[in-house]
Amino acid sequence: MSAQHEAGAATIHRVVILGAGYAGLSAAIQLASRVKQGENVRVTLVNAQERFTERLRLHMTASGQRLAELSIPELLEGTGAHFERGWVTAVDVNARTVRIDDERVLPYDTLVYALGGVADTAAVPGVEDHAYTLNSAQDAEVLADRLSRLGGGTVVVVGSGLTGVESAAEIAERHPELNVVLLGRGEPGAAMNPKARAYVRAALDRLKVEVRSGAEVVKVLPGTVELATSSAMP
Ligand SMILES: Cc1cc2nc3c(=O)[nH]c(=O)nc-3n(C[C@H](O)[C@H](O)[C@H](O)COP(=O)(O)OP(=O)(O)OC[C@H]3O[C@@H](n4cnc5c(N)ncnc54)[C@H](O)[C@@H]3O)c2cc1C
Repeated sequence: MSAQHEAGAATIHRVVILGAGYAGLSAAIQLASRVKQGENVRVTLVNAQERFTERLRLHMTASGQRLAELSIPELLEGTGAHFERGWVTAVDVNARTVRIDDERVLPYDTLVYALGGVADTAAVPGVEDHAYTLNSAQDAEVLADRLSRLGGGTVVVVGSGLTGVESAAEIAERHPELNVVLLGRGEPGAAMNPKARAYVRAALDRLKVEVRSGAEVVKVLPGTVELATSSAMP
């Protein structure tokens, strides 16, 4: 690594990793473990919260289950990587700085950008106002709270990829009082091999999830979704 920053007699190479999801956290741990003793490399991991969000399990949070509390500073203990809590508001590639919470500035020599992805709530009208997402632990908790207070009715899960399948299954299992509909363009688990797909379908049937394939949602309204085929549901 080329050293860029003078700190007294030593030169320090500053690696800043943005986002402590699966990608950022493992990058920080692996990178820090490769720094040899005496090497002047400082690895800093920046994340909005101290708690590690297990995005893979947010459908479990949404169905009311409690996940283990994983603290990022604790996960980094003994690795040599440093933790900086805050919301990244800007990156200046010319100045090689990151702005955090609009007030702190963190200089870097090497930047790893791992801020993850978010659900697109703009493409389909009405999603922003009338649908729930699993973008964050907080979003999943808001949905869990709503589901726990419904007492009956229909929950429509849109998207028959793995996240949709898992969400529909968890909600149906934890809330047998709710009618769960899984809507999607393709068959649930369409990318899987036929045996796995059949297994998924059998599990959804056992949980009484109503599967509707070939369905494209074009609008979300309060209490209903509009399909490209023009029929509204439920
Ligand atoms: C319900 C659900 C189930 C899933 N199931 C699976 C599965 O079974 N298998 C699979 O392979 N994938 C699954 N995925 C997808 C998987 O979660 C993502 O691919 C994975 O989380 C991406 O990891 P990442 O580190 O890139 O980003 P993320 O895990 O999203 O981490 C990004 C981190 O950056 C932080 N952050 C974002 N913006 C800022 C900012 N401006 N400032 C500071 N911090 C910020 C976030 O708080 C977060 O901690 C699932 C996703 C969901 C929502």
